[in-house]
Amino acid sequence: MQSFVLSSEQLNVLFETLMAKMPMMGPKQRSDQPGFYHFDWLKSPGELVLHYTTTTIPPKKAFFPPVETMFSFKLGDPPELTHIIEDTPFVLAGVHPCDLAAIKALDDAYSVPPADKRWLANRRRAIIIGSDCLPDEYCFCTSMNTADARLPCDLFLTPIDRGWLCEVHTDAGKNVLKNIQKDTAQKKDIEDASQWRLQKAEKISTKLNINFEAFAKILEAGGLTPIWKEIADRCYSCGSCNTTCPTCFCFNKYDEFDTTLTSGIRKRVWDSCQLPEFAMVAGEHNFRGERWERVKHRWHRKFLYLFRQFKRPYCTGCGRCSRACTADINMADVINQLAAASEKERSHA
Ligand code: SF4
Ligand code: SF4
Repeated sequence: MQSFVLSSEQLNVLFETLMAKMPMMGPKQRSDQPGFYHFDWLKSPGELVLHYTTTTIPPKKAFFPPVETMFSFKLGDPPELTHIIEDTPFVLAGVHPCDLAAIKALDDAYSVPPADKRWLANRRRAIIIGSDCLPDEYCFCTSMNTADARLPCDLFLTPIDRGWLCEVHTDAGKNVLKNIQKDTAQKKDIEDASQWRLQKAEKISTKLNINFEAFAKILEAGGLTPIWKEIADRCYSCGSCNTTCPTCFCFNKYDEFDTTLTSGIRKRVWDSCQLPEFAMVAGEHNFRGERWERVKHRWHRKFLYLFRQFKRPYCTGCGRCSRACTADINMADVINQLAAASEKERSHA
């Protein structure tokens, strides 16, 4: 892997050059909530903030918007369908390692046949520039093996004494750097970047006390219902944990007809397994009608079902769900609580 050094001015030139060619989405400060950041389309490179802790909504929205129009239709024999798929190339900048890992997880989930053409088409048109992060007390990426994730990014930036260490991960990344003034990275630059990563890891105090396989086995064994019920007693079923999660990929669809009721559009919108109606089927039968069943399902889905299918948990340790939860239900704490309760049960058996 090639690495270069860019000064802050050279990095700015890189972003200016890219934005002259295509739209760029990246983290910027919220105008309504100073000190909070969100991924949004940038009007100028000056809006891009690379030193940010995290965003409330993850960058998956660049490929899978919260609400999107899938196609328009016209009833008839045969009916007409026109798929609406964007093809403009764009840049997604400032993506943290845990969010890169989440994009990779969604690449895998959405590639399972019949595959999600919308996700894959959006992914193909993006250049991704990752950047290293500043953790807070909710982050537990070191326990999820995502603290230093790099794929899928084209370039990755780490702050160093001389500016930014820029790792080149793909040919597209190499191409983007063409004609941009830069220095070849020296040993000291690489060491500076390693030092940044070390300091970052040291700041992460939240840790899981159990490995993925052992936790999957606890979930598989079932039981621990009193704990699920105790957590569910605090939960409001608001769904914020799902809508802020970079690896949640469930959606719902609905049609909007025009006034003639002969044509319209189909939209899809993020959904949440914590909402009471999520598992409602015909006849108003709800196979997760109780709140504790829905709460339990979130951990089972991420750490058992998808873990078994894709050989990795569908959680990156970004901490967004815990930050967003007004009931203070913390993803890492629940895992550690279940692990401790299971251990206690075993020692009393
Ligand atoms: S964010 Fe918290 S309160 Fe809301 S559904 Fe998730 S766990 Fe429950
Ligand atoms: S489950 Fe929570 S901590 Fe894990 S990836 Fe989703 S939002 Fe982040």
